[in-house]
Amino acid sequence: MLEWAVMDFKLKPEHLEIQRKTREFCEREVMPVAAKYDKEEAFPWELIDGLRKLGLLGIIFPKEYGGIGLDTVSFCLVLEELGRADAALALTVESHNGLCSNHIYLAGSEEQKKKYLPRLATGECLGAWALTEPAAGSDAASIQTTAAFDGKHWVLNGSKTFTTQGSVAGIYVIMARTPELANGGGTNITAFVCEKGAPGLEIGKKEIKMGLHASDTAQLHLNNLKLPPEQVIGKPWKAFRDVMRVLDGGRVGISGISIGIARASLEEGIKWVKPRKAEFDIRPDLPGLSGAGKILADLATEIEAARLLMLHAATLLDNGEKYSKEASMAKLMSGELAVKAPTMVLDLFGPYGASLDCNVQRYFRDSKLYTIGEGSSQIQELIISRHLLAD
Ligand SMILES: Cc1cc2nc3c(=O)[nH]c(=O)nc-3n(C[C@H](O)[C@H](O)[C@H](O)COP(=O)(O)OP(=O)(O)OC[C@H]3O[C@@H](n4cnc5c(N)ncnc54)[C@H](O)[C@@H]3O)c2cc1C
Repeated sequence: MLEWAVMDFKLKPEHLEIQRKTREFCEREVMPVAAKYDKEEAFPWELIDGLRKLGLLGIIFPKEYGGIGLDTVSFCLVLEELGRADAALALTVESHNGLCSNHIYLAGSEEQKKKYLPRLATGECLGAWALTEPAAGSDAASIQTTAAFDGKHWVLNGSKTFTTQGSVAGIYVIMARTPELANGGGTNITAFVCEKGAPGLEIGKKEIKMGLHASDTAQLHLNNLKLPPEQVIGKPWKAFRDVMRVLDGGRVGISGISIGIARASLEEGIKWVKPRKAEFDIRPDLPGLSGAGKILADLATEIEAARLLMLHAATLLDNGEKYSKEASMAKLMSGELAVKAPTMVLDLFGPYGASLDCNVQRYFRDSKLYTIGEGSSQIQELIISRHLLAD
């Protein structure tokens, strides 16, 4: 039986306030330099300071842990604004809050929360979350990095790939495979927290990517990385469930970035077409609109629909209700739209769309990650279909 939930569409004053503050910050400080950071492939430390001042490095964490105590709806609205301005900076904020810090918040001990969250939430350092490996992404349960207990320490060996903030983080959450339990219990995945500089945690190759140039992505090599038992997050052997919870929440947030990319593309499309209406032969007074007008109208409609899906999933999460299927729906629709919107709008630009001076080519290059990271579109379809076909 399919269920439809009714939601209150009115944003609360605190939602509107953080949305306004983030938009102002983006228009004042991020948009003027986003293309420069993209071209230079440099990590935007100057902008990190602005994020820190606004509290955007601790959006969803209570004030007692240094955060600003906002809900997931706020998180999504912030990420839409950041995604509209610079999808690379938005990814830094999303992965820092939604993956690394949130894993510690959801599954960590009180001591770990007190030790690490204030440093992350106030922006003393950035966080990274390392699950993916050269031979394990979608199938997270098949990671090969090992953690063996030597009686005193866990000893980690293996490699991680495509870790966001891999080379710039101060705190890392790392997933590793632990030996089979004699009773066969657990899923054999354990999560660890560790700090930059720990002997055996080596920063590997920095990935040179098609887009998201201002987001740091690096490999990690774990060579006999020794961690005491108090660095285990949650229960040893049982981290797989926590990983899935972290990813479900991350998918709601990451939808905001995708919607931001689509919105930025639409806005650029409108700016381009408006003074050229005659050239595009747009006659909104006639039925059967085609060409540029149709592209813009369809994109505007799909952006509204994707935003409603995202806000629905975020509201369910905030209300403590089940939201996994809705998170996947929001991620699937918004990720595909993030790619479609700049693709369609670039068609309107003609040769100018190929110039690095055209912002839409950056959105086009940045967008593709959003159908891949935190679960590809195919994996979202798999999750949704499992919900639909469950007994
Ligand atoms: C810029 C960037 C940043 C990233 N940041 C992080 C990070 O911070 N931390 C981290 O841990 N990871 C990160 N990742 C990794 C990302 O989460 C993985 O790339 C993603 O989960 C897909 O895994 P994979 O690359 O191994 O692809 P694969 O799992 O090898 O998938 C390849 C293709 O097969 C499809 N496929 C796989 N399984 C199935 C199935 N069962 N049914 C149907 N189709 C299937 C996939 O959809 C995909 O199209 C990042 C990736 C990028 C590009």
